[in-house]
Amino acid sequence: MDKLFVFNGSSTLFDSDKSGLRHLSKVFGHEGFEADHIKRYDSEKNKMPWGLSEIAKSFNDVDCNKVEIESKKFVLDSLREDAKEFVSFLKNEGFYVAFVSSDLIEILDEVKEVLGLDFVSGNVLERVDGKFTGELEKKVDRYDRLDKIAEIVKENSLGIDDVFIVGSSVTAVPSKKIGKFVSFNSNNISIDVISDFVVSGGLFEIKKCLSIHIYKFENVEEIKKKIILGGVSNFHVIADFDGTLTKGFVGGEKSPSIIAELRNGDYLDEDYQKRAHALFDKYHPYEVDDSITVLEKKAKMEEWWKTHFDLLIEKGLCLEDVKKVSHSGRVKLREGIEEFLGFLRDNNIPLIIMSASGIGDVIPMYLKEKGLMSKNVHVISNFYEWDEEGLAIGVKEPVVHSGNKDETTLESLPICEDLKIRKNVLLLGNGINDLDMIKGFDYDNLLSVGFLDEKREDRLEVFKAGYNVVVTDNGSLDFVNDFLSGFENSY
Ligand SMILES: [Mg+2]
Repeated sequence: MDKLFVFNGSSTLFDSDKSGLRHLSKVFGHEGFEADHIKRYDSEKNKMPWGLSEIAKSFNDVDCNKVEIESKKFVLDSLREDAKEFVSFLKNEGFYVAFVSSDLIEILDEVKEVLGLDFVSGNVLERVDGKFTGELEKKVDRYDRLDKIAEIVKENSLGIDDVFIVGSSVTAVPSKKIGKFVSFNSNNISIDVISDFVVSGGLFEIKKCLSIHIYKFENVEEIKKKIILGGVSNFHVIADFDGTLTKGFVGGEKSPSIIAELRNGDYLDEDYQKRAHALFDKYHPYEVDDSITVLEKKAKMEEWWKTHFDLLIEKGLCLEDVKKVSHSGRVKLREGIEEFLGFLRDNNIPLIIMSASGIGDVIPMYLKEKGLMSKNVHVISNFYEWDEEGLAIGVKEPVVHSGNKDETTLESLPICEDLKIRKNVLLLGNGINDLDMIKGFDYDNLLSVGFLDEKREDRLEVFKAGYNVVVTDNGSLDFVNDFLSGFENSY
């Protein structure tokens, strides 16, 4: 097992305002017991675990078979309608799925069977001759739940990043220290503020958290708040293009950058493909090696880009090829891009796309084709000079490559003056060097989001240290869109 997902507490999986334990206690306990117990429980639960042995007493002398039958009925009536589908989604994603709760094990066992869970842990009542005695044989309160999860984590040497814990109530909170904690429909602000993610709605809403990694949560919340408070008129966005606004992977295959599409497709002759690939094989390892010095990387990237431009011009790159690349359909935009670009357009927020693409001319063309180019979008990239026949004859200076985005100046843009007063910035990138896009800009608040799809294991630590938020596994722009929606809510 290398990923663990835990439903911690009944209300994560049951669409009921009562736990199964409460429900059964009402069915089998003497009159008024459940109501008294709940009153006391509600006043005590925020301080400490309370009431399990008390509620166990309501099962004294009750037939075990009857409880099993009622448990099955409760599960059938109360499971969230999307529970089955969501659990099979998690299993497909490779998660080991556990459910720990202070509910009765009879209920948990039934859920395990219905949903195909890997592990459950819950309270066990003592049985004698087919009847319950009203004593607990095994108690599972909030701390026992924490211990159980910790045990699984330890046995499988999982890191905090490999564990997702979903909870709706205060009793799930202690488990927050051993994984990413999702506050799910808790409607409780004191739980929400200490959670890594706050989700309301159906279980599939949790999906978007699975690929988002926030490492310094308090920091991120603080930055988000400051930027939102500053309003849209003090805000702009800087984004890389390939692998940031476009997907890292499409159908399990590495998604091509614009230049990779040109290199791999049938646009120029075979000799071009061969030589371009040889250049890629020689230089790309430097591009994704975060251990070499910036200077070393810069020199290599500059060498690569210039040699490649010369090659493209030698091979007769023409405007028609650029159009074809734009049309190819293989370069795919990241999920959530329409909402993202739509928000920026509607609020007239400048988006600076800074791309080291080998043919920057494709970017505005491509966005225009998708109906996503608008006047607030500015592209800084490598643009060709074309002759009257549409043949590439040169590249406009300065060359933008993946190692020199810090030297790329905004001064050339007409929007430059406007940007200077928009001192709150959202930066999106998919390489550690993309963080350099902000270098030299005198910002007040910066929120940086890194998309990490390639060589995740090797690069996660570096990304974590550099970006405020890291989105992995070809994740969507949901985190960014959620953040932007904060502007609307603050009007
Ligand atoms: Mg990129």
